[in-house]
Amino acid sequence: MAGEAYKAIVVGSGPNGLAAAITLQRAGHSVLVLEGMDTIGGGTRTQALTLPGFHHDVCSAVHPMGAISPFFNTLPLDRHGLEWLYPEVSAAHPFDDGTAAALYPSLAQTARGLGVDEKAYHRFMEPVIKALPQLLPGLLSAFPGFSHPFLLADFARRALPPALRTARRFATEPTRGLWAGMAAHAMLPLEKSMTSAIGMMLMAASHLGGWPVARGGSISIGNALAAYFLSIGGTIQTGFFVKSLADLPPAKAILFDVTPRQLLEIAGASLPAGYRKRLAAYRYGMGVFKIDWAVEGPVPFRAPVCRKAVTVHLGGGIREIARSESAAWSGQVPESPFVLLTQPGVVDSSRAPAGKQVVWGYCHVPHSSGHDMTEAIERQVERFAPGFRDSILAKSVMSAVDMQAYNPNYVGGDINGGVQDIFQHFARPVLSFSPYRTPAKGIYFCSSSTPPGGGVHGMCGFHAAERVLKDGILDRV
Ligand SMILES: Cc1cc2nc3c(=O)[nH]c(=O)nc-3n(C[C@H](O)[C@H](O)[C@H](O)COP(=O)(O)OP(=O)(O)OC[C@H]3O[C@@H](n4cnc5c(N)ncnc54)[C@H](O)[C@@H]3O)c2cc1C
Repeated sequence: MAGEAYKAIVVGSGPNGLAAAITLQRAGHSVLVLEGMDTIGGGTRTQALTLPGFHHDVCSAVHPMGAISPFFNTLPLDRHGLEWLYPEVSAAHPFDDGTAAALYPSLAQTARGLGVDEKAYHRFMEPVIKALPQLLPGLLSAFPGFSHPFLLADFARRALPPALRTARRFATEPTRGLWAGMAAHAMLPLEKSMTSAIGMMLMAASHLGGWPVARGGSISIGNALAAYFLSIGGTIQTGFFVKSLADLPPAKAILFDVTPRQLLEIAGASLPAGYRKRLAAYRYGMGVFKIDWAVEGPVPFRAPVCRKAVTVHLGGGIREIARSESAAWSGQVPESPFVLLTQPGVVDSSRAPAGKQVVWGYCHVPHSSGHDMTEAIERQVERFAPGFRDSILAKSVMSAVDMQAYNPNYVGGDINGGVQDIFQHFARPVLSFSPYRTPAKGIYFCSSSTPPGGGVHGMCGFHAAERVLKDGILDRV
């Protein structure tokens, strides 16, 4: 509890906060986690947002990076209740003619499904799949690592061009549409660098493992991390929202699972002016508008493969998706938004009463937009799954403004902890050899606003804690 002596305090219990706390506690230091909300988990929470018996993932739902996280894979999370459930189809992408492209766990099956693009897909992805096991630890850290320079150079050659340019590798509209849906996870216009990197990593993660959900909801990830942390002697206090450093008991290191804007509010007075200025220049990107539905029966997708995928990308062809992302980025509400939809009931019957399902869908909107996208999102679902509207039993909506009110880390509705373009991928939260450490003694960042960025994988928290350990600050008397 607060008041006792802890070597380190972690503010925030998202996956990165818990990863940092576990890393320090495992190294033999006493750690206190302080969480502002009444429950732990940050972006992994699962709640009854609509009707009793319906368990909705408030934020993250599908965990390709969680399943291959080098940090998570060192933990006995299965013994603390985490079970990954893998769909037969990682992601599906329907078109207006009733067909769909699909990403499978198998590279060969994915390629075969792409028809004349079979060879092009093999050429593009095979070297990535071969190199990734060696490159992954470096790619998921502050620096890509130069121990495999040739592999890294080839990876960069594929990853760095904008997704729209990479799309020219493929001949058909379905393949280009599938590719655009993957790249749009970057929350950047598809004309920008880094969009190919994100699309490629997501496709590679499917071929290296799959795109699983956690049985019972994403909170099983947060709960497993918290249970393991407690089992090794850690302490968690919820309902403790930190507004200032003065709120905290004494500790040698404080790790913040927050973004630069919040750290400025909490600890600005302790930071040098130059660093404050750099943090203030940190950029946040587009927001999201999300709907959680409780529905009767499966989503009536016309393309059968969509009924086997937990993740379905709705937005038609590459041009339409590119327009949607460019609009949201430049401050306009997209008329025909690219919608990311998940239906975890495809593999997890525990989420809803028998015969019913939880489904979420979100689209990207301008930063801080309060615009209601319910009609536009439901129109997109109905376009590929006629009859969907009739299956809705209840819904809960969150605009970009609501997102930030729910979790202050989602500044303006940005769920990525800040823009992750080519510059800010390496300059999270500032350009530095030691991005996790601030100039103020004992104050560190550990959130997704540090490398390697957004997603539930815990690598930001792990690296932040490693930095603290290397700095030796906890051992000093
Ligand atoms: C709608 C949505 C869908 C997503 N889908 C996916 C997905 O499918 N797969 C995926 O991998 N990722 C997804 N993400 C992203 C993922 O959830 C985040 O990248 C991840 O949770 C970031 O982890 P974090 O620990 O850095 O921060 P968070 O998870 O945001 O945790 C921060 C924690 O700190 C607490 N906190 C903040 N300020 C304070 C304070 N001052 N005092 C005390 N506590 C504080 C917050 O309450 C929160 O619990 C999604 C996010 C959203 C919102």
